[in-house]
Amino acid sequence: MTVEEPGIESGQALCCMYTKLGIGTTQCYSASQINASDDRGDLNIKTADDSGSIRSYLVTRPTYGNVVLMFVAYPVKVNSKTPIGGRMELRQDQRGLQCMGFSTVPVPWDRSWDTKDRYSLKIEWDLSGAPVGTRGVSSFGEGIVRRRCAATDLWRMIFAVGPLNSYPSADEDKSDSFGFYWFGTAPEQIASLPPLCEELFTKMSEFFQDKLSADNPYRIFVRRVTPARGFGGSGGLRSVVLEYDEAIGTIIKDEVFNLLAHEIVHNWPLLLPGPKDKDLDLVAWFNEGIADYYGTILPYRFGLRSESEFITRLNAKLTQYYTNPHIEATNREALEKGWTDTNLLTLPYTRGMLYLSKVDYQIRKATSDSKTVDTLILSILDRTKKQEPHSLVEWKAMIEELLGSEALKELEAMNDGETMRLPIDCFGTDWKLLPVDQRVLDFGFDMSSFQTRIISGLKSGSQAAKAGLRNGDEMVRNAYTWQCQEEYERSMEMTVKRGEELFDVKYWPRSEVMAESWQLRKVEKSPQ
Ligand SMILES: [Zn+2]
Repeated sequence: MTVEEPGIESGQALCCMYTKLGIGTTQCYSASQINASDDRGDLNIKTADDSGSIRSYLVTRPTYGNVVLMFVAYPVKVNSKTPIGGRMELRQDQRGLQCMGFSTVPVPWDRSWDTKDRYSLKIEWDLSGAPVGTRGVSSFGEGIVRRRCAATDLWRMIFAVGPLNSYPSADEDKSDSFGFYWFGTAPEQIASLPPLCEELFTKMSEFFQDKLSADNPYRIFVRRVTPARGFGGSGGLRSVVLEYDEAIGTIIKDEVFNLLAHEIVHNWPLLLPGPKDKDLDLVAWFNEGIADYYGTILPYRFGLRSESEFITRLNAKLTQYYTNPHIEATNREALEKGWTDTNLLTLPYTRGMLYLSKVDYQIRKATSDSKTVDTLILSILDRTKKQEPHSLVEWKAMIEELLGSEALKELEAMNDGETMRLPIDCFGTDWKLLPVDQRVLDFGFDMSSFQTRIISGLKSGSQAAKAGLRNGDEMVRNAYTWQCQEEYERSMEMTVKRGEELFDVKYWPRSEVMAESWQLRKVEKSPQ
């Protein structure tokens, strides 16, 4: 890496990087692992770690001219117990490598996320020693990429190198605005998605008034994490990582599409967290709720999902919300304790989606359909583009103006965990919401068992206990929890190890407790 004429004094930081990312690791090179030089020759580097998990690389004399840093990054070793992290680590996938810059690249940074410092970035790949067919691709293109950007943009870019396959393929005349990349043979439910994703992305870009182009592209990087586990997405800058493991066979194409639709929405509406004292840090209900909301509604609006597929998808989200065992938890509890329990973590997502659906209904009623929730979202995006404040403060001002002070009370009640109840014609007069009998989700043991891979806190009398599970059983394989959250009838299928013995367990992860649940049904129009 070359930093052009940083011109810094002895003791100043040349660049920095995180030493850990949540539960994920980074390369966090030691001083001796970085070989630095400038016009005057070798440059000694010292490291300094701060309490915010940031390591600074300090120079021990003034720099002259360009500074060249040489370092080697190695893929992280993983196994079946490796926790599912933020998908930023450098990982080996078959014969390729993939990472997000956060984990791998130190950058010059003034420690401010809205820094005005801009760099002329150039990314080059030296593939001269690599096997024939090796390709190097990053978020903004294949091979050499030049951009004017903040240094931290490098952290949010995704990098992949190796025998990459792609859509459009390497020899196709490509537009360079959309790309989908994978190593080896992608499973059919992923391999069949690129044209659909391109269409969805193009139409969403138009909807959010941010046209897709070679200069404003989007790329999807697929990685297989075997022998680790994981299915999910993590957004980077104009790009996303889609991760899958050997259980991909239990996932259908629509489910992968649902995930990508959610991830693609994340490119746009975003409320920045504010201070905790006025609950202005509670933005997950918006940032994740909006991704679930538009991820469900826009594919149908664009004709990429049939009406029955839309109803199925919406009902999955309704089931996930209404049968969540933590439905009464506050958004604060979800923020602070969600990492140990995915039911709690994802509660604000579905809650936010229902809240936004209700706000949409209320705005349409209050303005005789001249405005919708889209009006507010586009206004937030406009503020974002103009680098104006876009936090809960602005959201509250907008809903109060359109809906009065009652809207602020409803927002507070939503934060406090009051159950969201929607008008029966919330989604339009073609459909209505009907109450249904559904049992509360209950896997039957502590949710942290899914992370520790050892069953603990088994509840006697639960379906899990009846199926023969015991505390201390080691989880070898299991169905994804989100599949059971979203699909009411879905069983939890699991392979567990007890002593030297392996056996399969299958049960319906539902308790005896009934939830107050709702589902969308098509209104049967009586013949005229
Ligand atoms: Zn998300």
